[in-house]
Amino acid sequence: MSAHNCDLLVVGLGPVGEVMAALARLQGLSVIAIDKALEPYPLPRAAIFDQEIMRIFQMAGVADQIEAVSLALNNYQFLTARHEVLLDFPIADEGRLGWAETYAMHQPSVEAVLRARCAELGVDMRLGAAMTGMIQDEDGVSATVDTADGPTPIRARYVVGCDGAWSAVRAAVGINLEDLGFDEPWLVIDTVGGVSDGQLRVARQICDPQRPTTHGPLAGGRLRWEFMLKPGEDPVAFAAEDNVRKLLAVWGYGDELTIERQAIYRFHALIAPQWRVGRVLIAGDAAHQMPPFAGQGMCSGIRDAANLVWKLGAVIRHGSDPAILDSYQEERAPHARAIIDTAVAMGRVVCMLDEAAAAQRDAGMIARKAAGAQDVTTAYPDLSGGMFSGTAHAGALFPQPRIDGIRLDDAIGEGAVLIGRNLPAPGPGHVRAVDLDHPRFARFAPALDAWLAEAGGAAVLLRPDRHVFGVGGAAALLEGWHTIIRTKIAA
Ligand SMILES: Cc1cc2nc3c(=O)[nH]c(=O)nc-3n(C[C@H](O)[C@H](O)[C@H](O)COP(=O)(O)OP(=O)(O)OC[C@H]3O[C@@H](n4cnc5c(N)ncnc54)[C@H](O)[C@@H]3O)c2cc1C
Repeated sequence: MSAHNCDLLVVGLGPVGEVMAALARLQGLSVIAIDKALEPYPLPRAAIFDQEIMRIFQMAGVADQIEAVSLALNNYQFLTARHEVLLDFPIADEGRLGWAETYAMHQPSVEAVLRARCAELGVDMRLGAAMTGMIQDEDGVSATVDTADGPTPIRARYVVGCDGAWSAVRAAVGINLEDLGFDEPWLVIDTVGGVSDGQLRVARQICDPQRPTTHGPLAGGRLRWEFMLKPGEDPVAFAAEDNVRKLLAVWGYGDELTIERQAIYRFHALIAPQWRVGRVLIAGDAAHQMPPFAGQGMCSGIRDAANLVWKLGAVIRHGSDPAILDSYQEERAPHARAIIDTAVAMGRVVCMLDEAAAAQRDAGMIARKAAGAQDVTTAYPDLSGGMFSGTAHAGALFPQPRIDGIRLDDAIGEGAVLIGRNLPAPGPGHVRAVDLDHPRFARFAPALDAWLAEAGGAAVLLRPDRHVFGVGGAAALLEGWHTIIRTKIAA
């Protein structure tokens, strides 16, 4: 079989593929990333992302640039037609992961930063290159890629399909999506003007059975609008400019808004029952799709990339057993599924068209909220199973304190780290020691000591994706890590 052209072939350069490719280069992998389109996706899609994603952007070395083209929100609310509050998600300017809890974004600006970073890191990006087929053997994957110059073969050790909802990679390995039962048509519009950044920092769902509506700010003086189509409405007439102007006029806006882009989508909830077939894996919308009411579709895909990439690095660069790649789905699928459930629950609140049912919904939710309960929570679960130690806090995201303007992850650097005092030499397994007695980490010592005291361990071992591997004695943590990173995970 011919030599490999790269360690990793990333199929699809949407936000997930871009993050995947950049992080893979930082793992030291050689990466070819292809996209069938010549330009990033032009229509309105992701509007917000959360602090965990900003931390992953930080890992990729682009957080400051992305912060500069994003807008920190301060609330996300679901309101009745009369603007009474049904659900309320206040957003902190600095969350426990070291960034604002939620940002509004202008996706093309974010993708421009990510693609520039891929180029800077030496990702071999090939645009106008569509994957049309692949076969794998015990040594690699041979993909056929259609380009303007004709079919081009690419041989890679591994392939990750980040090629979106209609994933050709998923089809090539014979995986079908499971339908989780949500299907609603919405018109989505981005406008420019009428607002300056910072003037509006609240995203809102208006649960009006007459016209369920989403609106909120995007960065760069833009607004996002989403209007649900009712049964029988003609999508073409609904999306026509005169009708769009009427929809915006309800909100008091006229010609000061320029309609920048718009599209009609059917919002779905789908998940793949299998995320890996041998040397081929799928991530992002290729593996799961959800309605946008939690603002988590892209976020979930970027989490996939951060979870998978260091495992690929361990297998390809450090000889770990490829079976560790099974932990990717084991850890990520239940998490993605929990968020899909939340997004669907939010969607069911928003998309109610029956007046009587909506009135009943409003009365019940307002009463429960007054009693201190809220119908939907965004407290997503920790990861579990897979490559964790089983101790307390294993699977949780480790906090990222920012002290004297410095964030923890920037101080401790990339890769797996063991944090504590009087630490043994980490030995093999690519772990670095972060000794809290070292002057370099002194500013973080009080916060980390307090965390360890509360967790009840002398040390904590963090995985490269900054999830807690385990808490306890340093030697036992190292031994557990060395075992799990090298060997097959017990079923
Ligand atoms: C209206 C709307 C609002 C949303 N809001 C949010 C939000 O606020 N927050 C959030 O997190 N998510 C949101 N989402 C979801 C988010 O947009 C998607 O989850 C995200 O775009 C998926 O990214 P991806 O990289 O997996 O796939 P995509 O962005 O779809 O990228 C896939 C890429 O693969 C390429 N490709 C496809 N087939 C091939 C092939 N055969 N060969 C080569 N290349 C190929 C495509 O050209 C494309 O560039 C929203 C979605 C919608 C529709």
